[in-house]
Amino acid sequence: MPWNAMKLVGKYGNARNKNRHDYHEECTYMTKKRTCPICGNRKYILFAEQKIDQGKLNKYSYASRKQPEFMCHQLVRCTECDCIYAPTPPKDAHLAQAYAEADYDSSKEACYAAESYASALKPYIVAMHKRGVAIDVGAGNGALLPHLDQMGFEEVYGVEPSSSAIQTAPPELRPQLIEGVFTPGMLADKPLSLLCSFQTLEHIPDPMTLLKDAATRLHPGGMIALITHDYTGTLNRILGLRSPIIDIEHIQLYCPTTIVWALDACGFTNIEVKPIWNRYPLQYWLRLFPLPSSVKQTLQRYLSVVHLADKAISLPVGNILTIAYKA
Ligand SMILES: [Zn+2]
Repeated sequence: MPWNAMKLVGKYGNARNKNRHDYHEECTYMTKKRTCPICGNRKYILFAEQKIDQGKLNKYSYASRKQPEFMCHQLVRCTECDCIYAPTPPKDAHLAQAYAEADYDSSKEACYAAESYASALKPYIVAMHKRGVAIDVGAGNGALLPHLDQMGFEEVYGVEPSSSAIQTAPPELRPQLIEGVFTPGMLADKPLSLLCSFQTLEHIPDPMTLLKDAATRLHPGGMIALITHDYTGTLNRILGLRSPIIDIEHIQLYCPTTIVWALDACGFTNIEVKPIWNRYPLQYWLRLFPLPSSVKQTLQRYLSVVHLADKAISLPVGNILTIAYKA
């Protein structure tokens, strides 16, 4: 479909689905194409056509670990840094509102994810000389914070735009959670030893601003730790456009080349990228798999009958951990 034929301004929902979508005001998209959000290049190759069914959008569409909808904005691949991105995503204000209002029902899966990420992160944290202040950007219900506490940081904070996510945090964690988006002025009197941002860079309108702000706020030798999907991972290559990472929430997607390009451009050194495994219950893995919902429901019932629904297993599903340091 040619660009000028695309309808880029519309409403999420219609009269028939009004009740389902009444939390959403009009969704307005950027009308001017953005350049690559990582390197600024204007040249790209088409990766995926826009695929959005307004009737399927609901209050979980911008929630963490939701049931995949297999919908996406038009996506292109930058010819310079290999970033896959939506040239005309929803406007920043709409995204901010959508994330602030998104429902959250994945506390259990968030705990599994935090265990996987903490385990991958631990060798790097053990090797750190100074463990002062750590901040987790996109902290959800704060599931990672107790792990960071246990690893010996003096102070640990999480930043999260979704009030629903914060409300599901255990009461003892809530004072450590700051509602909103990370800004350079946040906790301005506290130089950071560690900034984590896990499965967040895909969602934010300007990932380079976050990385540059991180470089400003970390003390010399401080560490940034990022977890992103890797669209070049084996499983994601096999699933192609049926991969759960092809999603309207994701306005950028990364591969090792992209993430190294981004951190190098922000002045980080000793950049290391490695694949990680995620551990989740079988019923959650099944939820992500691109199967018809009737087949999924049958398999879910079978897993429950044989008492395997909550059995947790680790799988390499194409996620990468990137570690880098402020010079
Ligand atoms: Zn690029």
